[in-house]
Amino acid sequence: MRKPIIVGNWKMNKTIAQTKEFVEAVDGACTDKADWGIATPYLALQTAKGAAQNLIVAAQNCHFKDSGAYTGEVSVEMLKEIGVEWVILGHSERRQYFGETDETVNAKMRQVLSNDMTPIVCVGETLEQYEAGTTKDVVKTQTVAAFKDVCPNCASRVVIAYEPVWAIGTGKTATNEIAQDVCAYIRSVVAELYGQEVADKVRIQYGGSVKPEGLKALLEQPDIDGALVGGASLKEDSYKAMIAAL
Ligand code: 13P
Repeated sequence: MRKPIIVGNWKMNKTIAQTKEFVEAVDGACTDKADWGIATPYLALQTAKGAAQNLIVAAQNCHFKDSGAYTGEVSVEMLKEIGVEWVILGHSERRQYFGETDETVNAKMRQVLSNDMTPIVCVGETLEQYEAGTTKDVVKTQTVAAFKDVCPNCASRVVIAYEPVWAIGTGKTATNEIAQDVCAYIRSVVAELYGQEVADKVRIQYGGSVKPEGLKALLEQPDIDGALVGGASLKEDSYKAMIAAL
């Protein structure tokens, strides 16, 4: 019912030239078994858009205001001008290193949605929170905050990425059972907010040390509709192996 969506989050990796090379090598391999995408640094977005026929091209952040005195920031209008309609929001690295809060994530969600763009909003607990057994409280707080004042029509378009912080770049993946359990819980939170019909439309990704060989089994989990992939999305071979795995 929900089409899987796999997006490579490149973080601060790849130049414009490397992006072009990657898209030219991978774009034609995409199949319709899933929506496939890459989130590149801002500078490479336009090149990626120009080279991609199949790949979704996403930004990794945006500002929540239309324009103004916000040195170093990029607005959604600027993204739309180059055809970029997807944005990752609230990644744990932005929460950890760049002062992103539940409030700014929510403001960005509303800005992106009201401009007919699609957010991929990230939630997830730290190792400390995981060990304290508070995973579900944390993802509920983050999810409820992210969706504050988002209307039901908009809400159903949102992609949520559940990324346990302790699994990012560590080689430690949550087991499929844990990932499924938390993703099902996140869906139940969306259902509490908007009803089951909207919750059934929202796509929920898992992220954290996803590798091509684990992708198929991950997507067999009933509430996991995709993956947000860091390291394994950077090499052409490994991205193509993910495509071939489905
Ligand atoms: P890794 O796949 O490298 O663990 O990164 C996950 C991630 O943060 C994707 O947004």
